[in-house]
Amino acid sequence: MSKKIQNQKEDNKMDKIVSLCKRRGFVFPGSEIYGGLANSYDYGPMGVEVFNNIKKLWWRRFVQAPVDMVGVAGPIIMNPKVWEASGHLSHFTDPLVECKICHIRLRQDKPAEIEAHAKEHQGKKAEWTEPKNFNLLFKTFIGTVEDDKAAAYLRGETAQTMFTDFKLIAEAARKKIPFGIAQIGRSFRNEITTGNFIFRMKEFTIAEFEYFVKPGDDEKKFTEWLNCQQEFFIQDLGLKPENIKKVELAQNELAHYSKRTVDTYFNFPFGWDEIAGIANRTDYDLKNHIEYSKENLRYRDPETGEEYIPYVVEPTFGLDRIMLAVLINAYEEVEARSGDDNSKHEKEIVLRLDKKIAPVKIAVLPLSKKEPLVKYAQKIYDSLKFDFACEYDETQSIGKRYRRQDEIGTPYCVTVDFGSLEDKKVTVRDRDTMKQERIAIDKLGDYFQDKFN
Ligand SMILES: [Zn+2]
Repeated sequence: MSKKIQNQKEDNKMDKIVSLCKRRGFVFPGSEIYGGLANSYDYGPMGVEVFNNIKKLWWRRFVQAPVDMVGVAGPIIMNPKVWEASGHLSHFTDPLVECKICHIRLRQDKPAEIEAHAKEHQGKKAEWTEPKNFNLLFKTFIGTVEDDKAAAYLRGETAQTMFTDFKLIAEAARKKIPFGIAQIGRSFRNEITTGNFIFRMKEFTIAEFEYFVKPGDDEKKFTEWLNCQQEFFIQDLGLKPENIKKVELAQNELAHYSKRTVDTYFNFPFGWDEIAGIANRTDYDLKNHIEYSKENLRYRDPETGEEYIPYVVEPTFGLDRIMLAVLINAYEEVEARSGDDNSKHEKEIVLRLDKKIAPVKIAVLPLSKKEPLVKYAQKIYDSLKFDFACEYDETQSIGKRYRRQDEIGTPYCVTVDFGSLEDKKVTVRDRDTMKQERIAIDKLGDYFQDKFN
């Protein structure tokens, strides 16, 4: 296949995902009734469930399971000194050039966008200013006076709470080095590059942890956590191994605080790109916070009495990008299978989400809207709804309802028919095998406990 045709096919796939996300309530453009806002999106009823499931899996693997990890939740607005100490006020920048005709600013390191923009001024020759560094922190003001004394910033990363609270947490949680502090929360970036759906947003959710080690143990821990990161993607989220790869950053590509960084890339329809990373931040942050705050954040080994500034290994996960990866990874088109005569010629979409991630686990579907079937089906729904994320649906033909459940990735559909009233059994349809089983209603709870464990 030629590269051009391949690219068109992949663009097409991205369009299909975006349209599915809107149609089924995963992701909507943000504030759409006002024409939207660049790089801003809302998670709809299905999207928020998937997103919460990903967060839960992350917290379970990286905070609840390891004995040497604890969690924290910090605010979005911190003392502005934090960003001075962290280097974000001076280093968190993109080099921008400005179009002299329309004054749009674009990233100098994105030549394709600059070239594309130049073509928009037909006939006129586009000229650009010299590149200037533009800080990506969102600035705001505390109180009513908008002067620099009142300036504050929306956090540019979640990591800083783990550094500022390092000592408090170590004491309160009685943790000895090595140990880690984790946080999931929103971060902000005054992003001007647009496109690629929820891949690039102004505000996004980061899950990350700072793992504090004795200097010298950092490289070994780096490798261990890097492996654990990959396990999370494959075992917990069900990403296909061929869809992810590790990318080691060259020295000149490293962030201002990093000694070594390995990113994890996913095979998106628009190309391979970053969904997670792991950085060796050394003692960069604690050292700076000691200098700026004058607090003693050194660690004293209770056994040996040895004092040092710990090194930090930091695995970071871009959860919105990961959600997009999960949806793309699960998206499949199959030959018509849901039995609607008028749709038999069309392809159908099945979202093969991991059961742990699926927004709805079980759909309860009465075959007809007639009584006493409906009441009977609602009772079955009531018996399952507190143990599993369930949906009850009695609208439309059964084929259309199956199709909808396939498109949102529901692993099991329970169909209640008139026979159920007689034999006290229902038909359970499996999304992936398409096998249909008759299961006794009083055994349904156990049946699904088995399936979801
Ligand atoms: Zn212009």
